[in-house]
Amino acid sequence: MSSPRGSGGRPTVTPDALPARLTLDGRALVQNWRLLARLSGPAACGAAVKADGYGLGARDVVARLAAAGCRDFFVATWGEAEALGQLPDGAVLSVLHGVREADMALALAGPHRPVLNSAAQVARWKVAGGGACDVMVDTGMNRLGLTPEEAVSGLLDGLAIETLMSHLACADEPAHPLNASQRAAFAALGERVPARRTSLANSAGIFLGADYACDLTRPGLALYGGRPAPGAEGLAQVARIEAQVLQVRTADAGTPVGYGATWTAERPTRIAVLNIGYADGYLRGFSSRGHALAGGVRCPVAGRVSMDLLAVAVPDTVGEGDWLEIAYALPEAAEQSGLSQYELLTGLGRRYGRRWS
Ligand SMILES: *Cc1c(COP(=O)(O)O)cnc(C)c1O
Repeated sequence: MSSPRGSGGRPTVTPDALPARLTLDGRALVQNWRLLARLSGPAACGAAVKADGYGLGARDVVARLAAAGCRDFFVATWGEAEALGQLPDGAVLSVLHGVREADMALALAGPHRPVLNSAAQVARWKVAGGGACDVMVDTGMNRLGLTPEEAVSGLLDGLAIETLMSHLACADEPAHPLNASQRAAFAALGERVPARRTSLANSAGIFLGADYACDLTRPGLALYGGRPAPGAEGLAQVARIEAQVLQVRTADAGTPVGYGATWTAERPTRIAVLNIGYADGYLRGFSSRGHALAGGVRCPVAGRVSMDLLAVAVPDTVGEGDWLEIAYALPEAAEQSGLSQYELLTGLGRRYGRRWS
């Protein structure tokens, strides 16, 4: 088989030829959004695509969700907005971090909406004669947003507010009293602040029930296959990792594997060395805890994850050049590694050959 040629006739590396792959399941993504849209009831269901679509690729995510009917997208910064380029027809984008002075030129050039978070941001937008905007109010998280007092003080008079929003601190703990208290505080504000729509729920908030859906929901994690709260079932894994076996060896009984010699073979053990490591986002928390899959057989990680390599104990059927899937179902992988499901997604490195199925 001849290798592909780049400019100048030199052989070139295509994504398919890379020794670690990320397969992104576009059907699963859309299916997750449809489930969340259904659970949102009459509310519109948007999509948080900050941090490059939680590491999966924001442009690809937006294209697929917009084609499925999603209209409202959220990024953190104007740099992320710019990186998205031209949005699909009908899609609108809100920039969650609002407008610093340095953002104003981009923000005023349109067409995206800032989410105004502070009195200074509101003043800046008003003085500049900015157009439609969103407003974030803090109802108990003490992160971004105007205080409820500021929101009803007259500060917002004269703004064309599209969406009034707030963010839940503990939606992943359904019994936490802060949920109901934030909802009540937000409902009270919704009656006093003139906005076209209201929005409170992230992924986990959608699972708190219809009272939290307001006019627009803003899921992120659940779109990408995370389980946002206990009992949130039916969400499909979107990102799958595979890595190729670079070498196979046998560790004799009593011999160690990897940095720090932290894992020792109890019996002669076939070890496959895979082309993936913590520089790919497969972090040290998986050391001797994660596993790969060889045709359904569980292959435990043996010892520490290296920067670019990973040793797993494999059956005899596995040989050099084979591809193994790295178990990466988010709730279980989070449990194994001690990382959050969010970190597991946003940390995925840039070295994978990526393809959407
Ligand atoms: C990130 C974010 C979301 C999405 O949160 P998930 O927990 O990923 O569903 C929604 N709203 C705001 C304001 C956010 O910052």
